Amino acid sequence: MSQYRPETICVQGGYTPGNGEPRQIPIVQSTTFKYATSEEMGRLFDLEASGYFYTRLQNPTNDYVAAKIAELEGGTAGMLTSSGQAANFYAVFNIANCGDHVVSCSTIYGGTYNLFHVTMRKMGIDFTFVSPDCTDEELEAAFRPNTKAVFGETIANPALTVLDIEKFAKAAHAHGVPLIVDNTFATPVGCRPIDWGADIVTHSTTKYMDGHGAAVGGAIVDSGRFDWLAHADKFPGLTTPDDSYHGVTYAEKFGLGGAFITKCTAQLMRDFGSIQSPQNAFYLNLGLESLHVRMARHCENGLAVAKFLQSHPKVEAVHYCDLPSDPYHALAEKYLPHGSCGVVSFELKGGRAAAEAFMARLKLAAIETHVADARTCCLNPATSTHRQMTEEELAAAGVPAGLVRMSCGLESREDLIEDLSQALEAV
Ligand SMILES: *Cc1c(COP(=O)(O)O)cnc(C)c1O
Repeated sequence: MSQYRPETICVQGGYTPGNGEPRQIPIVQSTTFKYATSEEMGRLFDLEASGYFYTRLQNPTNDYVAAKIAELEGGTAGMLTSSGQAANFYAVFNIANCGDHVVSCSTIYGGTYNLFHVTMRKMGIDFTFVSPDCTDEELEAAFRPNTKAVFGETIANPALTVLDIEKFAKAAHAHGVPLIVDNTFATPVGCRPIDWGADIVTHSTTKYMDGHGAAVGGAIVDSGRFDWLAHADKFPGLTTPDDSYHGVTYAEKFGLGGAFITKCTAQLMRDFGSIQSPQNAFYLNLGLESLHVRMARHCENGLAVAKFLQSHPKVEAVHYCDLPSDPYHALAEKYLPHGSCGVVSFELKGGRAAAEAFMARLKLAAIETHVADARTCCLNPATSTHRQMTEEELAAAGVPAGLVRMSCGLESREDLIEDLSQALEAV
């Protein structure tokens, strides 16, 4: 399928039915799979043969959808997780252990920041956060001998900064470590980070990929390009025998194209068990089938709303990289030539109080802890997703207290603008 264009992969990627088989992907609603002999099953346990034996490790429905996402991203292998949080945790923990260090962009999703800054630190993994706008020297200074990965978001949630993927990839590769990019907001329809040098791509599929607010989920895709063996001393988990699988060395047995995802499934999914249910994978696939059609509309609505807000006297600032005045516009033109996404953030004159009053008066845009689905919604990050952060941390994450994050859905843009207009009048 990967010879086709993204639109075709959205619809038909990942699954090609044989004669007389279901046209739509089957939901394999089974925890387990049957074998005739213990020996056959044993070979699966030893990773000597590929096949299904227990849904915590692999399930056909999930594999069809993971394969579609891997094709869309231009990767060699993919896996689904129960959430975006699990995807980012697994992607980092698959290569960074206690005593290791990761360089992360500071403008990242609040949940990911918490995961890195608090929870993974408790596991002994240290993080250095750098501004997406850092100079090459500042980025260079963030690395340590024990650095194992660099992390960033293509379009940051909610700061809406655009990652200079090539710059971060170059720095990561100069230090012999991979770049992990969370591509949730851009989706592979808008940007394929692997094409720009990223090694691992993650997703909260909960957002645009599902796109209907129906199912929480995550995905990890490997580019298959990072040479673990060339940096074998840094990544012993991939380049030395795994005792829990009779001494398998992932990078040797599964090659560069399969090592990362096989290890992530065989060890982390086995031990932590954050699987996506096959039913949710089916919903996710329905979303993927129209991703290319929906993203174009989300982008059109986002741009119309951003332009309206920018010209409104009660609005202090609008952050949307498709606006020519936005500081990230040049990066957006390079990495997101077909438009960024439907999420626009803005600050009202009058700060937090004005933002709250405005949001309470909206009729179409509901206040929700969510973004990136068909229905327009909005949120004040400082009082919700980012409420654990101090004022300084909020500033570093690009989230001033009065910021409103508005996720433009698929409604009529005229209706959305009329709703914004009446809510602004009342402020
Ligand atoms: C929502 C989000 C996550 C977390 O995903 P969940 O599916 O909610 O666990 C991670 N990264 C980004 C960019 C997100 O927007």
